[in-house]
Amino acid sequence: MNRGIAFKPALAGLALAFALTGVQAAEGKRVDVLLVGGGIMSSTLAVWLNELEPGWSMEMIERLDKVAEESSNGWNNAGTGHSALAELNYTPEKDGKIDISKAVEINESFQVTRQFLAWQVKQGVLKNPRSFINATPHMSFVWGDDNIRFLRKRYEALQASPLFKPMQYSQDNAQIAKWVPLMMEGRDPNQKLAVTWTPIGTDVNFGEITRQYVAYLQTRPNFDLKLSSEVQDITRNDDGSWHVEYKNLKDGSTSATDAKFLFIGAGGAALPLLQKSGIPEAKEYAGFPVGGSFLVTENAAIADRHMAKAYGIASTGAPPMSVPHLDTRVLDGKRVILFGPFATFSTKFLKEGSLLDLFGSMTLHNSWPMVRVGVREFDLVQYLIGQVMQSDDDRFAALQTYFPHAKKEDWRLWQAGQRV
Ligand SMILES: Cc1cc2nc3c(=O)[nH]c(=O)nc-3n(C[C@H](O)[C@H](O)[C@H](O)COP(=O)(O)OP(=O)(O)OC[C@H]3O[C@@H](n4cnc5c(N)ncnc54)[C@H](O)[C@@H]3O)c2cc1C
Repeated sequence: MNRGIAFKPALAGLALAFALTGVQAAEGKRVDVLLVGGGIMSSTLAVWLNELEPGWSMEMIERLDKVAEESSNGWNNAGTGHSALAELNYTPEKDGKIDISKAVEINESFQVTRQFLAWQVKQGVLKNPRSFINATPHMSFVWGDDNIRFLRKRYEALQASPLFKPMQYSQDNAQIAKWVPLMMEGRDPNQKLAVTWTPIGTDVNFGEITRQYVAYLQTRPNFDLKLSSEVQDITRNDDGSWHVEYKNLKDGSTSATDAKFLFIGAGGAALPLLQKSGIPEAKEYAGFPVGGSFLVTENAAIADRHMAKAYGIASTGAPPMSVPHLDTRVLDGKRVILFGPFATFSTKFLKEGSLLDLFGSMTLHNSWPMVRVGVREFDLVQYLIGQVMQSDDDRFAALQTYFPHAKKEDWRLWQAGQRV
């Protein structure tokens, strides 16, 4: 860990605390691996470990009464299989040159993910692939001379990598209308646009993957899932193993498990648990919650006419995660369209969290660094304030810059997950 970075905003509140032990166990229930949280991170690790170490015992503890109800739920994120096919922030321009190294790295990582998923389908762990991954063209969609120049340069630079060969570039409005008719109908025909379009993108339902992983794990004799159970304390045993206390939120009873390895896959709520673990690295971390909301239409007549994840460009000061996109999704077996995200503010670290989460995570060690980051990243602060002040009309006007003929009655606002 870079100890110079006092505040590290993270897309997922993923944290890992591994303790190796060869020494005898403390009293009570004991497992090899304890996983806090039932999201995509814990379930992926559990499936992986189950394959590598089938003899290991594992316990997964989830505070809600189902797995995949927080950020991993299909409705709580945008479901983009991030491959740098459309996200412009992965190809920064430096000294007039487009740097594609990050784009290549992201794309390769996602190919490894796809291989892992394909292997799990072969093993019978995952079922029908269409239930969780669907081919969806990825597109960058920009206007304005500077953005058009940048997109063209980005496209040309990406051609150096075979990973991006299927990508096409167009400034021809008639061609763009063939790819995304809804984004062109009602638009000024003289507006100068540029797009890149590639058929090899994906829409992923991470919640469905999580549910299928956990359903499989529950058929294994060494795996135990505790639902409606919240981890409340973590301490270190003398032998280096972890003592994890949790509460059954339905009947109020408390239990404890000792584990050789502990994985904190608690999403946005990872930070308070890391702090409880007492590991020194946790001291300098702070977390700031930023929620996301989307405009959603389930009107089939509209959804069936848009087949792309069309990403725009972030406005000044806006973080990459705020780039507006008009997205085809397949959720609950149905095609829907999401537009957003719009940043929202709440002091909760989880969608189903407590309003006290942020204040409870502030310590003598992390409060001042957090203030300093707020000052240094003032553009981001301004952006967040601007987003929170938005009215329904502002959000709808933003949608119409991408989908000019959108009608209010077809869309509703949906609160998605929290990022910390
Ligand atoms: C608006 C938005 C859009 C996004 N878009 C994308 C995208 O397009 N593509 C992409 O790849 N990623 C996207 N992400 C990120 C992605 O959703 C997350 O990275 C991922 O879901 C995190 O998974 P996780 O398992 O770490 O956390 P989660 O899914 O949040 O799971 C954590 C679990 O831990 C449980 N938990 C927490 N505390 C405790 C405790 N004390 N005891 C027991 N259980 C506990 C929670 O209830 C929850 O079930 C997006 C996220 C958001 C919010």
